[in-house]
Amino acid sequence: RAKEAGRGGHAFFERCMFEEAEDNRLLEQDVRQALNGDGLTLAYQPIIDAATGAVVGREALLRWRHPKRGDIPPDQFIPIIEDTGLIHQIGDWVIREACAEAVKWGEELRVAVNVSAAQLTGAGLAKTVLGALATTRLSPDRLELEVTESVFLGDDAATLASLERLRALGVRLVLDDFGKGYSSFGYLSRAQFAKIKIDQSFVRGAAEGARDCLAIVKAILALARGLGVETTAEGVETEEQARAMRRLGCGQLQGFHFGRPVEASQLSDDLNAPSRLIA
Ligand code: C2E
Ligand code: MG
Ligand code: MG
Ligand code: MG
Repeated sequence: RAKEAGRGGHAFFERCMFEEAEDNRLLEQDVRQALNGDGLTLAYQPIIDAATGAVVGREALLRWRHPKRGDIPPDQFIPIIEDTGLIHQIGDWVIREACAEAVKWGEELRVAVNVSAAQLTGAGLAKTVLGALATTRLSPDRLELEVTESVFLGDDAATLASLERLRALGVRLVLDDFGKGYSSFGYLSRAQFAKIKIDQSFVRGAAEGARDCLAIVKAILALARGLGVETTAEGVETEEQARAMRRLGCGQLQGFHFGRPVEASQLSDDLNAPSRLIA
């Protein structure tokens, strides 16, 4: 009976794999259409100076509204567009769009764009960034490119060369989701990062007083200070978490407590209002 169950399980597994492949193929067609139409948009989430409460920048986050399935979260469709190579076209669009939006903001505001490992190994990214900066006349130091440590897992030499080329353009490199996954302090010395973003799991844990999370956050902040690198706490959802991160010496805060990601048309340009009220 065990054998039968095993075989049944196997067939079930294969069917799921097939359905998933089918699903991904359909999604790929759909995302191509979305790129040509207006199904892909960017949402912007504020990044706050922990000391003053002022908005210092916004992170651009890709949004896809599927005509039949509704909103599909980036964690679901980005792996698909990475596999199909569409990430280059879409990633280029994200950079151009975010730069064009950021020039409408106050001069002191930065825009952060997420970049996948696959975008770094191709040679085209620096050219895209240069083009976007030239067209929009956005100052390079107002553009931040966020990468996760996973970019270092593939072709190291090409990735490092690519990061260095980007940095040479004057844009700021940011290490995203630090503390999560592969996390090695060694990655911090691979490229010259301007900022580290502390993963939200540690922000939550540290605010709750979990000793391990607290120790890790303190270590990351001490390291950042030593390296002369800025820090942002991600996923700050409560006043308590904001207070904890501020007290620990984190420079910037980002999360639903300060504002959810919203489409460009909903951005408030009143930068002097209390930050909590700004989208
Ligand atoms: P990320 O770069 O770490 O972005 C932060 C994610 O946390 C966003 O999820 C954001 O909506 C969410 N978030 C912000 N504040 C809070 C909070 O207080 N609580 C909670 N629970 N979540 C919060 P989102 O938009 O679903 O994006 C997920 C990931 O997808 C991003 O993580 C990023 O890695 C990737 N991504 C998004 N847009 C792009 C893009 O244009 N290109 C690439 N390559 N990746 C992107
Ligand atoms: Mg990010
Ligand atoms: Mg992150
Ligand atoms: Mg993330």
